[in-house]
Amino acid sequence: MTRRREPDAEPPRYRKGNLPTKVCATCARPFAWRRKWARDWDAVRHCSERCRRARGRDAPSG
Ligand SMILES: [Zn+2]
Repeated sequence: MTRRREPDAEPPRYRKGNLPTKVCATCARPFAWRRKWARDWDAVRHCSERCRRARGRDAPSG
């Protein structure tokens, strides 16, 4: 049996079709996990940078 190795697309805990979701704190719309948030998904509260800026207060260091 041969096992194909998948390219490092996503971390193993987040597979396609089974992505975690959150609700945007600004527009109240649900959004799914994205690879760019892999490092700080816990801190993500908005669906987009636009929504994040709309808040203004929620500014993480960086
Ligand atoms: Zn939003």
